[in-house]
Amino acid sequence: MSILIDPYEEAKKQLRSTIELLGLGEEAYEALAVPERLVQVKLAVRMDDGTVKTFIGWRSQHNSALGPYKGGIRYHPDVTANEVVALSMWMTWKCSLAGLPYGGGKGGVRVDPKKLSAGELERLSRAYFAAISDIVGEDLDIPAPDVYTNPQVMAWYLDEYSKIKRGFYFGVVTGKPVELGGLMARVYSTGLGTAITAAEAARRVLGGIEGRTVAVQGFGNVGYYAALFLEEMGARVVAVSDSKGGIFNPNGFHVQDVIDFKNKTGTVVGYPKAEKVISNEELLELKVDVLVPSAIENVITEKNARNIKAKVIAEGANGPTTVEAEKMLTEMGVVIVPDILANAGGVIMSHIEWVNNRMGGWVTEEEARKKLEERIMNSFNNVWKFWESKLDKQKHNLRAAAYAVAVDRVVRAMKLKGLL
Ligand code: NAD
Repeated sequence: MSILIDPYEEAKKQLRSTIELLGLGEEAYEALAVPERLVQVKLAVRMDDGTVKTFIGWRSQHNSALGPYKGGIRYHPDVTANEVVALSMWMTWKCSLAGLPYGGGKGGVRVDPKKLSAGELERLSRAYFAAISDIVGEDLDIPAPDVYTNPQVMAWYLDEYSKIKRGFYFGVVTGKPVELGGLMARVYSTGLGTAITAAEAARRVLGGIEGRTVAVQGFGNVGYYAALFLEEMGARVVAVSDSKGGIFNPNGFHVQDVIDFKNKTGTVVGYPKAEKVISNEELLELKVDVLVPSAIENVITEKNARNIKAKVIAEGANGPTTVEAEKMLTEMGVVIVPDILANAGGVIMSHIEWVNNRMGGWVTEEEARKKLEERIMNSFNNVWKFWESKLDKQKHNLRAAAYAVAVDRVVRAMKLKGLL
């Protein structure tokens, strides 16, 4: 997260404007602005050289009106308690919007995992999960991977929890390896959801996705699957990038070929069939129909918003567009599929995994994918309908509608429970 922008302050601003839009009172804002629980843990980890190092971690449980808390765990040297709280609030809205029976949670450990050996990473992961083991559970709080955590880390969490609780609780984490109850489809689920929502927005704004040009920033888990599925749907992927830079070809790339190149060399830069190398900044301003920022936050700002030529932006990443930039883009008539809708495919697939684990059942990849596709289209339609029927489209982008639908569902659940 940018050090200049406090994500919790941003999250509260978004909540404030949604509360106003829905005509709710100050008590609703106060009930939702603060997490239900924020736990800080201190972890003592034995390093390979024999010394013991101290790390700090958090788990924020923002809201449980709709069900157990759900959200990933991030390992990053810059993680703060405020960032974790903001991310947990965004998870509340994302789960609500997707119609899942989950509340929002998020965890973080302040660590640079690239500096740890595999053994140190395992000991840190086990220590963290042991420290939060009393506040997580299959029916209580269900973590998952986030930045710099992966299925292997989930396997350590699951094993640590099973030892402490003396039993098998496969549903305590999602995003697990397939051998431990994870789903094959999880790896591409976020990118698939991003592609589906981008294509649907393109259909409504531009008349279709076939033959439309697409630029994808970030060629990681979300970005490359989004590019792959958009290509499959008939779009022309003319630009992709990673942290080292981007590549452009007006005729479009064969996405799988670019992936193979990146897997070999570590970057898309140097791909021989590119017409030219471009910067990440240039990629955002290309003359394309659809832009899919799938790397990091705050890349579309008031500085470059006016130069953006795409008519549709689908936010694969969390928070790529600043509030100021969104105001400008809305005036320019650009439709933004917001992160809580565009990247919800991951948490939807997590729910399918969790249900499968709880039933002790099995689900085929096709079944899981079909459920995801239906669910995300349903969310998209609800948001679009709200936007068209209830909001002034010159003033509010799709994000306002997504937040309104999401917050309204949580508020109604809280009222039913007597919490508001
Ligand atoms: P990843 O680490 O797999 O990929 C990130 C990509 O972005 C890499 O290609 C990296 O080189 C590139 N990148 C990093 N810094 C960059 C920069 N400054 N400019 C351009 N490219 C840069 O991560 P991911 O899982 O694909 O996540 C990407 C975003 O999507 C994050 O915001 C994440 O929170 C969000 N997200 C991911 C998931 C998921 O299931 N993976 C779900 C929801 C949201």
